[in-house]
Amino acid sequence: MLFTELNLSAPILKAVTEEGYTTPTPVQAQAIPPILEGRDMLAGAQTGTGKTAGFTLPMLEILSRKPFNPKAPRHVRVLILTPTRELAAQVGESVKTYGKYLPFKSAIIFGGVGIQPQITALRNGIDILIATPGRLLDHMSQGTVDLRHVEMLILDEADRMLDMGFIKDIRRVISALPAKRQNLLFSATYSDEIKTLCESILRNPAIVEVARRNTSSELVTQRVILVDCAKKSALFGHLVKENKWEQVLVFTRTKHQANKLSDYLQKIGVSAAAIHGNKSQAARTKALSDFKAGAVKILVATDIAARGLDIDQLPHVVNLELPNIAEDYVHRIGRTGRAGNEGEAISLVCVDEYDYLKGIERLINRKLDRDIIEGYEPDPSIMAMPIVQGRGGGGGRGNSPRPGGGKPQGAKPQGGRREPQKRDSSSHRSESRRGR
Ligand code: AMP
Repeated sequence: MLFTELNLSAPILKAVTEEGYTTPTPVQAQAIPPILEGRDMLAGAQTGTGKTAGFTLPMLEILSRKPFNPKAPRHVRVLILTPTRELAAQVGESVKTYGKYLPFKSAIIFGGVGIQPQITALRNGIDILIATPGRLLDHMSQGTVDLRHVEMLILDEADRMLDMGFIKDIRRVISALPAKRQNLLFSATYSDEIKTLCESILRNPAIVEVARRNTSSELVTQRVILVDCAKKSALFGHLVKENKWEQVLVFTRTKHQANKLSDYLQKIGVSAAAIHGNKSQAARTKALSDFKAGAVKILVATDIAARGLDIDQLPHVVNLELPNIAEDYVHRIGRTGRAGNEGEAISLVCVDEYDYLKGIERLINRKLDRDIIEGYEPDPSIMAMPIVQGRGGGGGRGNSPRPGGGKPQGAKPQGGRREPQKRDSSSHRSESRRGR
């Protein structure tokens, strides 16, 4: 199938062609026709599938099919909600890119930056609003946004919004919208909570489900390297230098650990930056653009900060620490092997994380090869310690060399007591809600 077969008008097709795309991805091919028919939609698709264009293109097409008077006052006609600032910024970019030959104005509003420019943009009139729920509510309570003319609501990464505790905010936003509107809900997972949300807002939705990209992708080589917790940073630095890696996205479980690795890498002469919820928006944007431009080789990120980051053709993703939610592993490795390019996902796994590894292997239905690197062999006498989420050290012991020769103090034998699927929602929430 070609984009030209999807009933999109010339200004949209021109913008798509200029991006170099001729063939729609599966989610685009499946989602665009029912959206153009005006149907509600539930789409199971994660980042990396082309979902953003999957809703942006038909949304722009629908807007452009109605008569448009550029001199008449503008009202928000489309509201797109995203869980994070980064995702809002990226969706905003896509709206601008694909809508560049159309007369619509869009604005992005999220927390952590000054509210005044957003108020000015809203006052000047916009057609498409991309927002994170917290800051949107701030505008609603100040009366600086009018949602009474919304024709289409798009919830992007709805599962993540629920994970981040935004359900009440979403419901408050929805209660301010006209009852008659088209609703699109995109979610990588389909939990009971998502089901309840769908039942309450979607009317006879078209259902689109695309394969999880990386569980099926042959393009991503997945490797596990076993190593002691205390040696992870040193091993990572060694791998970067040895393999002459030029662009690596590294994941940690905590903000503290992200900072620590970034500091360590800079100390050994490898350019690195960390992004997480404690960094200002300006610092996060700068880190990302430096990384994309190649000025920074290593970007260290927590799951939430990295969510939705659109970095094309990333050759390497490294899990310095495995995520405590197996699903997050799939999201993380989804950053590599995109758009037909080969990618490598490497996980540095210490004895504390074996339960997490098992949970991941269960989810992806595949056993990952375990390697050991000479000079970084794990010490078999070190026993597992429980990982405490949200604590200073970040996953218990992180990378800090242990006093007294690397043996854990008071180590307990591993007993399968941990629940790899359980999220520490409070620590995620505190990161996600900051700077509304
Ligand atoms: P998304 O899942 O929306 O985050 O998109 C993932 C990546 O795929 C982005 O870098 C898009 O620019 C790219 N992309 C979107 N649509 C297509 C397409 N039809 N063909 C190739 N790449 C695409």
